[in-house]
Amino acid sequence: MNDMHLMRAKDIDRNGYWHVNGCKINLMEESIPVPKQVRTVNDTEHCLMLVKANEFIPEGCPDCGTQFSDDIVVLVLETVRLVPAKCCDLMMWYVETPTGNYERENYGMET
Ligand SMILES: [Zn+2]
Repeated sequence: MNDMHLMRAKDIDRNGYWHVNGCKINLMEESIPVPKQVRTVNDTEHCLMLVKANEFIPEGCPDCGTQFSDDIVVLVLETVRLVPAKCCDLMMWYVETPTGNYERENYGMET
């Protein structure tokens, strides 16, 4: 079993597969660990669908300003969204605000 806490943005492809140790893991079929700071109910959530990062965040990467390419997808989980930002190799977590927008939470997988 691969440790999903070690998942890196660069290893997630546009089809929602995580490439690790020579294997290809379909994240749509996995329980994805959610950092406790962004967690609302459960410590893992399922991926419900994938959306293009440049549609979710048209202004581009909040860290370096790079426009997201079509190769970057957002994992839409049950209550949060995960953006594997390959430009910075960062897993960016977004939580829904009461107004229905999404705000970035600055927490990594390991915390
Ligand atoms: Zn970036």
